[in-house]
Amino acid sequence: MSQPASEPSFRESVDQMFNRAVSLMDLSPGLEEKIRVCNATYTVRFGVRLRGEIKTFTGYRSVHSEHMEPVKGGIRFALGVNQDEVEALAALMTYKCALVEAPFGGSKGGLCIDPREYSAQEMELITRRFAYELIKRDLINPAQNVPAPDMGTGEREMAWIADQFKRMNTTDINGVACVTGKPTNAGGIQGRTEATGRGVQYALREFFRDAEGVKKAGMSGTLDGKTVIVQGLGNVGYHAAKFLSEEDGCTITGIIERDGALYDPNGLDVESLRAWLMKHGTIVGFSDSNLVEDGAKVLEEPCDILLPAALEGVINLSNAERVQAPLIIEAANGPVTVGADEILRRKGTVIIPDMYANAGGVTVSYFEWVKNLSHIRFGRMQRRQEEARHQLLLDELERLSTDKGLNWQLSPNFKEKYLRGADELELVRSGLDDTMRAAYSQMATVWHSRDDVDDLRTAAYLVAIEKVAASYQAKGL
Ligand code: GLU
Repeated sequence: MSQPASEPSFRESVDQMFNRAVSLMDLSPGLEEKIRVCNATYTVRFGVRLRGEIKTFTGYRSVHSEHMEPVKGGIRFALGVNQDEVEALAALMTYKCALVEAPFGGSKGGLCIDPREYSAQEMELITRRFAYELIKRDLINPAQNVPAPDMGTGEREMAWIADQFKRMNTTDINGVACVTGKPTNAGGIQGRTEATGRGVQYALREFFRDAEGVKKAGMSGTLDGKTVIVQGLGNVGYHAAKFLSEEDGCTITGIIERDGALYDPNGLDVESLRAWLMKHGTIVGFSDSNLVEDGAKVLEEPCDILLPAALEGVINLSNAERVQAPLIIEAANGPVTVGADEILRRKGTVIIPDMYANAGGVTVSYFEWVKNLSHIRFGRMQRRQEEARHQLLLDELERLSTDKGLNWQLSPNFKEKYLRGADELELVRSGLDDTMRAAYSQMATVWHSRDDVDDLRTAAYLVAIEKVAASYQAKGL
């Protein structure tokens, strides 16, 4: 699903969206350029001996803004990785972190590789070697630059990176904080894997609490009963589709993957499709009657919510006019090009922008980093004490009711829920929900109160740039 050649590159697209917002601001001269430009991009070519020959790989780590350190952002393993893409993604990280108040600058990394072509052992060799190159230049470091998973990477790669850092920095007590998205048995946090999808769910819930926003989209009601088309059933798309269908009453009518799409107005079974995809590496063969060979066409089917959760640029000049969904939530980074954004805005489509919609990942990464630096899991000190205090209150209530002859009986279900102290997963979800609500309210205030702002993306940029600018100004720049 490549975008037409007439469109600007991904980085130019992000810059143009930035410029559009900044033209509505009154920044001190030169500051806007300082914020927009990418500070540095490091390119590395390294060789790994595989299958009897040396194979050379190209990787990048881009640092967009160091107004706060460490800088933060994932590492992507994909064949399409290039400098332009990594820089665009690093810029989005700067704005994303500012918007959700994760105290980081923006960065991103990438390795040109198709991970499906290599065994787990080969991937470990390659990942460790790439990590070695970045660690020795402090481009992976708990105080300076903290990667995380992105497309093509996950817990496994993060565990290798953390271990590589420990091997090279044996006395650094905070070494495990050099990367987030690790498995829980290697310093990770509960709820990180689901975090981006969970954040998408919380973002949509928050949108449907905003009556004015819902009206602007020409929609009504709540999330319950809404139809959703999901593009990409990877980690983000899968979790978002799962939570929306299982917990919010949404019907997933379309799922688009790289080799086609499944479309069924009566709803698709997300769990079994994901299981099929994991086993066979393709959606083909799952349900012949619902298969649409030209998957991208399903982006144009009628639905309430279109949820692109894979690559950048999938909604572009070639199809934006035909997109029918009144609401798009950008679970991926950059799925709507700047040209398509213009067309959709004109049509009145509401877009919940990437820098907000997919910020759940970095938000929970922030919690993981804090957990690693504090060397204790969230809730460990308070949980049982909280339970004891709740028990005290219930005992007293029951005693009073018996004394007064009322004989109140609290339902076992209520008691069970009330008594239970929050564990790490609940605390992570609560922190994420709070973050998504606070950021939405800041964006929505700008969106609804300024006559010169007619979309959420511009509002998000305004809120984020304001924060980055304030941080530069506080430093005396
Ligand atoms: N790769 C994710 C993103 O694009 C997560 C970044 C992180 O957790 O640092 O937001």
